[in-house]
Amino acid sequence: MNRMRKVRVNCTNGDESVASRINRIPPSASQATVAIDAGTRGNTTYARTLQRQAGEPGRRNEGRARRTHFPIFKEKTHISSPDLVSSLASPMEGKVFQKFNVEQCCYLQNKQFKTRYQREPNPYMSALLPCPRGKLAWNLNSSLRAHTLFKYQNTAISKQTTFYCNAALSSASVPSLDKTDFLKLQNGSDIRGVAVPGVEGEPVSLHEPVTEAIAAAFGQWLLHKKKAESRRLRVSVGHDSRISAQTLLEAVSRGLGVSGLDVVQFGLASTPAMFNSTLTEDESFLCPADGAIMITASHLPYNRNGFKFFTSDGGLGKVDIKNILERAADIYKNISDENLRKSQTGNSSTKKVDYMAVYTSGLVKAVRRAAGDLEKPLVGFHIVVDAGNGAGGFFAAKVLEPLGAITTGSQFLEPDGMFPNHIPNPEDKTAMEAITKAVLDNKADLGIIFDTDVDRSAAVDSTGREFNRNRLIALLSAIVLEEHPGTTIVTDSVTSDGLTSFIEKKLGGKHHRFKRGYKNVIDEAIRLNSSGEETHLAIETSGHGALKENHWLDDGAYLMVKILNKLASARAAGSGSGSEVLTDLVEGLEEPKVALELRLKIDKNHPDLEGKDFREYGETVLQHLSNSIETNPNLKRAPVNYEGIRVSGFGGWFLLRLSLHDPVLPLNIEAQSEDDAVKLGLVVANAVKEFNALDTSALSKLTHSS
Ligand SMILES: [Zn+2]
Repeated sequence: MNRMRKVRVNCTNGDESVASRINRIPPSASQATVAIDAGTRGNTTYARTLQRQAGEPGRRNEGRARRTHFPIFKEKTHISSPDLVSSLASPMEGKVFQKFNVEQCCYLQNKQFKTRYQREPNPYMSALLPCPRGKLAWNLNSSLRAHTLFKYQNTAISKQTTFYCNAALSSASVPSLDKTDFLKLQNGSDIRGVAVPGVEGEPVSLHEPVTEAIAAAFGQWLLHKKKAESRRLRVSVGHDSRISAQTLLEAVSRGLGVSGLDVVQFGLASTPAMFNSTLTEDESFLCPADGAIMITASHLPYNRNGFKFFTSDGGLGKVDIKNILERAADIYKNISDENLRKSQTGNSSTKKVDYMAVYTSGLVKAVRRAAGDLEKPLVGFHIVVDAGNGAGGFFAAKVLEPLGAITTGSQFLEPDGMFPNHIPNPEDKTAMEAITKAVLDNKADLGIIFDTDVDRSAAVDSTGREFNRNRLIALLSAIVLEEHPGTTIVTDSVTSDGLTSFIEKKLGGKHHRFKRGYKNVIDEAIRLNSSGEETHLAIETSGHGALKENHWLDDGAYLMVKILNKLASARAAGSGSGSEVLTDLVEGLEEPKVALELRLKIDKNHPDLEGKDFREYGETVLQHLSNSIETNPNLKRAPVNYEGIRVSGFGGWFLLRLSLHDPVLPLNIEAQSEDDAVKLGLVVANAVKEFNALDTSALSKLTHSS
């Protein structure tokens, strides 16, 4: 009779997301009590919202609300709903509660927040029990979807049956989701979604319950993979500077707990550091982690977020991501599944460690080693860093400065998830202009720029010339081929013909041009090595790059370390000054005068598709183009080609391929003149003109511009 229940609620209030908990609900109760733990940092907007909603009496607190971090450390909310109340005696999972009311009192900085708020006439108001210490109540005329979380089910308090539920406001923005909705979150070997509301046409898809389910699914997957391990598994979790990072971090930690795994939180971190934590052997930092999760959406806008997963074998591939999302859909929908129950092994723990200290000291050591164990091999070098307000700001103070470099003029090092200065992306023109300007303004020797999560990078020499795309690949190929003469360099498919002849004729290496996608490039390099073809570098024009000596870890910071090694060792040998040694290394790289990428979209709803998949249609386009060039004596098909149709001619080349994820055929053209680029464009335009579902307007613009 005296059974008490516990129900946990994720309460999304307008734009703000607050983790809530309904505690101890007697089966006979006409209400549930929710304790909202908004934490002692952040949630300023939420504090302000509460105060605004509170009206007159709340004004006393206005001054305090303007502070950057306004702590709300205790709140209680009462929820009542006829549905909720009547269902308390029966299992709650999956139920949707309509028209529930929330009554809440909160304490700001330990002072009672005595006020009362009622958004609209509330028929159930009188049914609410009075909150003993003042109240703040409003009527949420939307629904609540509940499902149980098993993390708590084993923690029954004696003589009480503990019942937890995970719920989210189920207005239009939180629909019931099935497998296809989860699979839509897959982006190749990453998970990506919208985590922040407010952008038109981009509804939130990475809700907290969805995130919990995904993390729980990764936990299950990991348990399955490592079933031989006798000890409890632990997963490290880090995030970039996005504004949704904290909310998702907490949701991920809860989700991992559901699967009974221990959580090690790294806080602000880089993607490569997360992978690295699965390799580091250092128990004082709770390493190695059995798995790692990076919360990031790389260079995408502020409202997006997502996950990358690692084990000591590297980043998870497409097949594993699909498997995890399928598991997540089941967990989300059918949280009472028996398997999930079994996967629990007890209470999980959550600890915080400063792992970035371990990771950055590894980078510093690598440069010192390359310079013959000099303590400060970069003394006298002036190097500016542009982190674009992402997670890469550490590189200036934690890597360059300990090595002796001057970093004044570095910019946008502070994490800011709104990215107010430029997109942190070395492929973005504005971003590259910003770092180039910083180098020239400060008369620096070198500029270094990272993307948001630091798996991609680019550099700028003292004259303002970029080491980006083909030039960055050429520079790293030169460095790697000095160390490993004759080795194979694996790149993506859109690298230039000039790069091939640079690697093969000038450097004496072999260029293996593979497909787009950093994971494809890295996996291909690993495959080549295991099949007996030696390769030490896998690199994409996007700035993703991985070295064999660094466990094939896709690491923008490590690419820059290789460049720093070169500077430091040249200085130690007394040869060259500034970034000259780097500029000299790419001497002889032929660069096209014109380089462009046009995107030809496939209209998925066009009648020409006749219900076919856009991929099938795209393949037909490529086949048609392939047939049409056979008869043209000016054109030559690339003898070895792994993606799309690549053709040389008119002193340049083009590549038409099918995008990895989207209904788009990207067309890359490089030529020595506008005229030649147009001639190459015309070849494609003539071949695809009968394909009405293909948007060729960009191509027409090019071919009519002359
Ligand atoms: Zn990235």
